[in-house]
Amino acid sequence: MYPIANRLDRLGRGVECPTCHTVYFLEGSKNRDRMYHQAGEDRTEHWKLLCICSEQISFQKQNVRRYRTHSAALESGYAIEGGWKLSAWDPWEQSKLSSAIAKSISEDLGLSVREFSQISAFLHVRRTKEKGRH
Ligand SMILES: [Zn+2]
Repeated sequence: MYPIANRLDRLGRGVECPTCHTVYFLEGSKNRDRMYHQAGEDRTEHWKLLCICSEQISFQKQNVRRYRTHSAALESGYAIEGGWKLSAWDPWEQSKLSSAIAKSISEDLGLSVREFSQISAFLHVRRTKEKGRH
């Protein structure tokens, strides 16, 4: 058990048990003995995780989500219900994604990323101005 006063100021990738809502973090090696890797018949990769409540969680890469939690939970490898919060937005991931989109569009247009971001910033300003008129 962790003191409730702990702040959820750390970010970890994890899998949640649907029964007892314990989140297991994939960072570090704490859960290595709990997890089993399986290759499915269709060659998709599956993992199984044995929870403290004796539930067997079957998951795939797309089921892994980001959770905010406290450092003690990350160190122990899991957080019980109340010791984590789903993190819907990851600024780092977000900026990586939008810069990848900017790069592919600017390549299509034959512009440099710098030119493209200047143009899109200009268009954004115009769009917000036009909205204001109505
Ligand atoms: Zn469980």
